[in-house]
Amino acid sequence: MTTVIEATAAEQVLGGSPEGVPTADTVDPTDTRLWTAEQRAAAQQPDWPVHAAVDVVRSQLNAALPLVSANECETLKDRLAAVSRGEAFLLQGGDCAETFADVTAAAVQAKVRTLLQMALVLTYAGSVPVIKVGRMAGQYAKPRSQPTETRDGITLPAYRGDAVNGFDFTRTQRIPDPGRMLRMYQAAASTVNLVRAFTTGGDADLHQAHSWNQDFVRNSPVGSRYARLVDRIDQALAFMRACGSSDEQATRAVEFFVSHEGLLLEYEQSLTRADAATGRSYASSGHLLWIGERTRDIDGPHIEYFSRIANPIAVKLGPATTPDTVMRLVDKLDPEREPGRLTFVVRMGAGTVRDRLPELVERVTVEGARVAWVCDPMHGNTFAAPSGHKTRHFDDIVDEVTGFFEVHRGLGTHPGGIHLEFTGDDVTECVGGGARVRFGDLTDRYESACDPRLNRTQSLELAFLTAEMYRRR
Ligand code: PEP
Ligand code: MN
Repeated sequence: MTTVIEATAAEQVLGGSPEGVPTADTVDPTDTRLWTAEQRAAAQQPDWPVHAAVDVVRSQLNAALPLVSANECETLKDRLAAVSRGEAFLLQGGDCAETFADVTAAAVQAKVRTLLQMALVLTYAGSVPVIKVGRMAGQYAKPRSQPTETRDGITLPAYRGDAVNGFDFTRTQRIPDPGRMLRMYQAAASTVNLVRAFTTGGDADLHQAHSWNQDFVRNSPVGSRYARLVDRIDQALAFMRACGSSDEQATRAVEFFVSHEGLLLEYEQSLTRADAATGRSYASSGHLLWIGERTRDIDGPHIEYFSRIANPIAVKLGPATTPDTVMRLVDKLDPEREPGRLTFVVRMGAGTVRDRLPELVERVTVEGARVAWVCDPMHGNTFAAPSGHKTRHFDDIVDEVTGFFEVHRGLGTHPGGIHLEFTGDDVTECVGGGARVRFGDLTDRYESACDPRLNRTQSLELAFLTAEMYRRR
């Protein structure tokens, strides 16, 4: 039997006793723990039933090895600084929600290969260096619009990602279990390890680019288009070799980073580490963390936590965002105006981006802040199919990216990248695209634990279309 230990609502959220709470004057800016009463009222945190178990998990995570290093985070910051200057393009993507069941070599490889294929298309057809960032190795916690879900008169807590509870609609699965944060850590650690192996150990060698184009994609029109592009790259590589000027080192490995939404503050705080060389604190759970649309309250604890870590960070911006809000975020999260520190991921919807984005970009530009602007064409374009499946139309996704490019062209600013939900598999979750997934096909392979993802073919098509936009820019 489990003992339910009574805790105040605030303690449920962030744990710890209020004793020894520093006052505003004594607070150490490098201390990433969150103490004040306001900070404790974090949005979208699980209602853990057994508070004592959370403390045990936190102390274990406190003692765990970091998953990434401060140096790697700084390297990504340099790359994102180049993105903000218009000298590179960010490709960030992966599952809406990773699941423990999908921590398999095949699933990780398929996602990495999809991202590499897309990056190759963008690099070659768009003639721009591509910064590759997976929504991987930590994307296990989800914000939800409703805290509960009701089916046939039974109400249970909503699924908040494998880091919190189980997907199956049973009481045992849906009750939040803090032990899942340890499984999240283990899943993230093994994923980041395999990602490093795939991206630096030879699998990502440019000479292997044909082999990334596997099974179902190879025979699709976009797969053939990709094969022709790789043929041209092969010829170029052979030419460079014949000239004696090939740099085998440069083509053998790729630089790859991992990212996730920094939603679970207990998890993130427990994995925060001070860098011995600089004294700065880093979230060691991933290279880049972002704050979601639902948790970016300027006075909320997520923003407070993010302001205290030195990683490159991103903030999602929905259609209701005002220029004042954007500037408050810049001032709080990037007071030093550090190049590469802050990325705005805009997710407004295809019908809205052309109207609402310009005033945000204009204001930031006028104020002299240097941020990277990235388009998430997924989250503003979700709707329910007649079958009830959450879906997105490929044309809306393309339209939002197009609008994003138009806005930046109009203002003379830089379209810095795209942030996508995709998978390496041949799922049927988003409708449209060359393979013409229809509403009726959604029942075939709808495997997402949360939002609908582009399948491998749709992802490649989007990469070609985005590369064309980039070149025409
Ligand atoms: C997400 O990226 O899966 C997500 C929930 O996005 P947003 O915060 O933009 O709604
Ligand atoms: Mn999502």
